[in-house]
Amino acid sequence: MNNFELYNPTNYVFGKGQTEKLSTLVPKGAKILLAYGGGSIFKNGVYDQVKAALQGFEVIEFGGIEPNPRFETLMKAVAIIREQNINFIIAVGGGSVIDGVKFISGAVRYEGNPMEILKNRVLFTDTAKVIPFGTVLTLPATGSEMNSGAVITIEATQEKLTLGGSALFPKFSVCDPTVVSSLPKRQIQNGVVDAFTHVMEQYLTYPHDALLQDRIAESILQTLVEIGPDVAENPNDYKLASNFMWCATMALNGLIQKGVPSDWATHMIGHELTALYEIDHARTLAIIGPNLYRVMFDTKKEKLAQYGTRVWNVTGESVEEKATQAIEKTVEFFHTMGMKTKLSENTANYSNTADFIVNRFEERGWKALGEKQNITPEKVREIVEMSY
Ligand code: NAP
Ligand code: FE
Repeated sequence: MNNFELYNPTNYVFGKGQTEKLSTLVPKGAKILLAYGGGSIFKNGVYDQVKAALQGFEVIEFGGIEPNPRFETLMKAVAIIREQNINFIIAVGGGSVIDGVKFISGAVRYEGNPMEILKNRVLFTDTAKVIPFGTVLTLPATGSEMNSGAVITIEATQEKLTLGGSALFPKFSVCDPTVVSSLPKRQIQNGVVDAFTHVMEQYLTYPHDALLQDRIAESILQTLVEIGPDVAENPNDYKLASNFMWCATMALNGLIQKGVPSDWATHMIGHELTALYEIDHARTLAIIGPNLYRVMFDTKKEKLAQYGTRVWNVTGESVEEKATQAIEKTVEFFHTMGMKTKLSENTANYSNTADFIVNRFEERGWKALGEKQNITPEKVREIVEMSY
């Protein structure tokens, strides 16, 4: 097992009615920016719950953080915080609002041009240099409620770039699974597939000696397979919703990544598809993931065979056969979850996509992705072209 440190300071507050605890979670006397998205929180009652819980606090609202949150929008919140001396932020929403708030948190006291945070992948490690924040999660998917990473879109250049660092963990996250009942089916499907792929990025590499991490990862995958199709049909079922929410958090709160190699190339390529065509994040992963496993078959086949055997009970004779069956099962599962796994089924103008992505990766110096650093621009091209 590789050496590791396990640091996760987020106070994870889970269950029905937990939003009531907000007043005890926010520092006394805090002046709060309440950040939210396009307005779903007004329809499903979450806004009312949050406002009721924050009585007595000074709250300034900032709405309109879009899915795939934009630098340009977030900079408006940065200006408000600077002008009004706000000292705490609450993100109420899904991954986009939470990610957006992580950027805002880091940008307010950043001394250079905040664009550098994204272009130069600035790491935030000093809590004195960020604005503390908490979250009220409304969409299980990204794990952003219990990790310190974020993905931000620059509208001007159609880029989707990451930021993070140990100072950007939420102070707390209120996770009440009853919010699942108001989610459109499409978002639940997206959430299941995003969480599933987060596990795959950290698990589907090569055999290693971190046995417990493998078993935890496989348990999350199995649970998502067990409940995914049902929760999309029955979002009011608390047993399904609560397990879905906990799986999504566990998929990307750092635990399964400890002591193991990880890949993340599916996400890196997928982000480009969202930046170019505005395809939902999870849907880009369903397009790219299986083709990445096909192109990188030689590197990944042992782990694919293990995954196929343990998660899908495949019974092929050879490693190759089991690995191939595992990929087929994954694609079938994505189809069951409402994904269209070809790029051409998601957008009409895709013919130059591979060129575009390969050029961008080369410009950024991304020449060796994946757990073995063997996903070269040529491999990226193959993966993307196979996805057409
Ligand atoms: P999202 O973009 O936050 O939200 C998608 C849509 O769902 C929005 O239109 C939102 O509406 C709506 N919605 C949210 N909660 C709802 C509810 N309870 N009822 C009804 N509608 C609701 O979706 P997401 O999948 O959570 O986040 C995707 C983003 O996270 C992408 O930018 C992706 O790249 C990023 N991501 C981050 C990480 C990470 O670790 N930080 C990992 C993976 C992906 P409103 O705007 O009106 O609320
Ligand atoms: Fe993701």
